[in-house]
Amino acid sequence: MTLPNKVETVIIGAGIQGLLLAFNLADRGKRDILVLDAGYWQGGASGRNGTLIRGGFSSVEWTGFFSHSIEQWKQLSSRIGHNVMFTPRGYAIIAESEISRSMLDTAYKNQCDLGVRTELLSNTRLRKILPAADHDRIKGAIHLKDGGTAPHHAVMKGALSALHNRGVKVHYQTTVTDIETTNGRVSAVFIGDHRIEADLTVIAAGAHSTELAKCAGVELEAAPFRIEAFASEPLRPLIYPAIALIDRMTYLHQTARGEIVGGSEIKGETAKFNLKSSAYVLPRYARNVVEMFPQTKNLRILRQWSGFLHPAPDGGPLLGPHPDIGDLWFTAGWTYGIAGGPGAADLMAKAITTGEIDSRMAAFSIDRFRRGKPCIEASAVIDNASAIA
Ligand SMILES: Cc1cc2nc3c(=O)[nH]c(=O)nc-3n(C[C@H](O)[C@H](O)[C@H](O)COP(=O)(O)OP(=O)(O)OC[C@H]3O[C@@H](n4cnc5c(N)ncnc54)[C@H](O)[C@@H]3O)c2cc1C
Repeated sequence: MTLPNKVETVIIGAGIQGLLLAFNLADRGKRDILVLDAGYWQGGASGRNGTLIRGGFSSVEWTGFFSHSIEQWKQLSSRIGHNVMFTPRGYAIIAESEISRSMLDTAYKNQCDLGVRTELLSNTRLRKILPAADHDRIKGAIHLKDGGTAPHHAVMKGALSALHNRGVKVHYQTTVTDIETTNGRVSAVFIGDHRIEADLTVIAAGAHSTELAKCAGVELEAAPFRIEAFASEPLRPLIYPAIALIDRMTYLHQTARGEIVGGSEIKGETAKFNLKSSAYVLPRYARNVVEMFPQTKNLRILRQWSGFLHPAPDGGPLLGPHPDIGDLWFTAGWTYGIAGGPGAADLMAKAITTGEIDSRMAAFSIDRFRRGKPCIEASAVIDNASAIA
């Protein structure tokens, strides 16, 4: 495929963020869009994740944004004309310490205030929803009724097909090597020697977004952070909802095939771009899962893989125009980029086409750290301090 010399909108990165943003822009009538990706389909974090989706957190900002995204997830199959296999099986946030338990009280209040379908679980309800857990360890739990899972291949396939059907070009194996700026605006992006001018440039390059920002001469407050995930051999149905064990920085769910899929964030992980699996994460993840679900004790791990998050200092996404270059937009900084994908794409496309930045997106603007307004979130399975170190 030959590359054009000029387009209206160029999106760098064809993970879930880039593809769904392109789809939402196309849905709003913009068709002169070019999506460029350095790698292969699903090669980034969007093909390497745990597939867990939740719309409730502890802070107003995170809950407002991610509950909007859940609503978008619910409509996505019919909008893109492909079954994205979103399964709202529920999502349980489990606290094993007093600090986390009292944080859940705040989370529950904020979730109720924002209209999220949530339940602060009594011991009896918890035993019903999660009979296989070691209940002596649990100090409190929230059940998000609309949370769940969606296998990433389904949304990635659906989004790509929807773009093809609308005539939007997506080029894989096409690395953006430079971004040229003139008088404080982006004048072109380069793929080697090939120069493309665009009215609007959006960086949706996952963990590589900071280095692309540097090409344009601007800073982005986020850094790559490697995590690992695991899939076990299948076992009989044991765990129904998706789970976050927040004191263990661990998430998991049981797939329709019976595998337990999940991971643990291990403090001290490095930000090197290294996709090799390591020997030391597996035993720690295994201990976290087996202690909470003793019946998983003899399960074998069949697959282990790694991928990159791109956490900002507060773990929240970086959305919208860069404060120093107004025609350079970002959907980056993602830690929960699958859960947040459809919501970000909807609000970003609205902002780009109408100029109106929704307050749920504005909370995650890139300049929030300069303004001293980070969106601190206590129930995320991401240790911000180690992530940004
Ligand atoms: C192990 C693991 C488990 C996870 N679990 C969950 C979960 O359960 N729930 C959840 O919500 N999130 C989860 N995440 C996070 C989620 O996967 C990411 O936040 C999300 O996929 C980010 O999407 P993206 O489109 O921004 O990035 P990516 O999918 O990484 O896409 C970015 C794309 O940009 C391309 N690119 C980079 N540089 C260039 C360049 N110079 N030129 C052109 N293209 C370029 C890359 O090739 C890549 O395809 C997990 C992540 C990992 C690694």
